[in-house]
Amino acid sequence: MNPLSVPDSPRASVSEDRPARTDFLAYNPPTIGDAERAEVMDTLQSPWVTTGPKTHAFEGALKDYLQAPGVVALNSCTAGLHVALVALGVGPGDEVIVPSMTFCATANVVEHVGAKPVLVDVSPDSLTLSPEAVRAAITPRTKVLLPVHYAGHPAAMDELDALAEEHGLAVLEDAAHAIPTHYKGRLVGSRANLAAFSFYATKNLTTIEGGCVTGDPALVEKCRIIGHHGMNRDAWKRFDRSGSWYYEVVLPGFKYNMTDVQASIGLQQLKRLEAFQRRRREVVARYAAGFADLAALQLPVELPWAESSWHLYVLRLRPELLRIDRNAFIDELKARNIGTSVHYLPVHMHPFYRDKYGYLPEALPVAADAYSRMLSVPLHPGLTDEDVDDVIHAVRRLVLANLA
Ligand SMILES: *Cc1c(COP(=O)(O)O)cnc(C)c1O
Repeated sequence: MNPLSVPDSPRASVSEDRPARTDFLAYNPPTIGDAERAEVMDTLQSPWVTTGPKTHAFEGALKDYLQAPGVVALNSCTAGLHVALVALGVGPGDEVIVPSMTFCATANVVEHVGAKPVLVDVSPDSLTLSPEAVRAAITPRTKVLLPVHYAGHPAAMDELDALAEEHGLAVLEDAAHAIPTHYKGRLVGSRANLAAFSFYATKNLTTIEGGCVTGDPALVEKCRIIGHHGMNRDAWKRFDRSGSWYYEVVLPGFKYNMTDVQASIGLQQLKRLEAFQRRRREVVARYAAGFADLAALQLPVELPWAESSWHLYVLRLRPELLRIDRNAFIDELKARNIGTSVHYLPVHMHPFYRDKYGYLPEALPVAADAYSRMLSVPLHPGLTDEDVDDVIHAVRRLVLANLA
């Protein structure tokens, strides 16, 4: 279902004299309920609280849900991206192509393995990795393409796959925003190449902190070993009847395991995810209808071949039509008790990357321009229609009061 086509007329309820809200609308609180709390208590009262049966069950549930060939649960998406790069053999002298419009972790992990993140620009519509920019950035040292499914909108995978094939590159997906995202009808996470998901507190499905890697079972098992000290046996199996005390270290791995307490939350969140997604789409449809007549706002897209997870609702202001800039817009919304955020300051504009590689902001003009005029408004399943209308009203008032 395309949410943008859902008929709705929220503006009837957001007339210009609607009063501002009196309590602060937090940008993105988690949606955690009795089911999650009960499952956590069950785990805390059991003899095993860290990586064990609940983590194993969560991996199985994720595998079914994502139609993934293999899954390993870890303690973050950052950990997942890190072990994936190690599993792919990426190291000093190698280059990994990363979109600049992403969270810093996508590039940081490339630094962690001693390789060079080559930051490239994004497509103006979806703000995902631009295949043309990738083509121009490939060198003989390029080893991996690392697309991000920004805001939950899938990257242009067919074009990226073709480039990867042509140049013998691996593809690693940053799927932090992408549960559940469909590309041409197929779920992100169902492919053989590695993809890393995040279950951080603000993500569509949370374990508070957590993540997983999906992909070909042999490659995923390699990721599991790298993320569990390099041990060739599951530690928890050493302590139940089926296991043995014996293990061997086959490489100096990292300690990135998920705990059964985290997995308990994830197991229950996964059962609620379809309902969460329905509500996200309702909110998106309400925003789209509420903002449709404002030329000064550029609304997020869902391209015909995409089904977004709608992790974020990113508005872009059109500065040529407004007398207010993005920062003032955010301050004014805050004054009207609406929490917002910015996703993201492009990686090439962070001091570390700017100074190490000598980037000017305008080197990646689409990312820099989008950053200068973007803001994310609240989007989560706990929003009521009243909350959404408060956001619509506050944004409309600001736009209409500041037309150029
Ligand atoms: C949240 C996020 C990450 C990191 O996820 P963690 O689970 O917090 O490590 C990586 N990439 C993107 C695009 C993210 O939004």
